[in-house]
Amino acid sequence: MNCQETKILLSEYLDRELSCEVRTAVRRHLAGCLDCADECRKLQKSIKLLKKFKKLRVPRDYSRTLFYRKKKAG
Ligand SMILES: [Zn+2]
Repeated sequence: MNCQETKILLSEYLDRELSCEVRTAVRRHLAGCLDCADECRKLQKSIKLLKKFKKLRVPRDYSRTLFYRKKKAG
């Protein structure tokens, strides 16, 4: 596997959406390639941020549910 292929697969690799074989190939490449390992770390960071962001958006839906419940009850 080369750098270009690895970078294309990185997000799926981090989301654990790859087959076992491909995961191993990506991991092997990352172990020997500083450039891609760095790219992987950066992507991991932004995915974490994105997940935080998604969590923050949950309460809005929740309050909407409460609003509808209140309307029904009142
Ligand atoms: Zn590489």
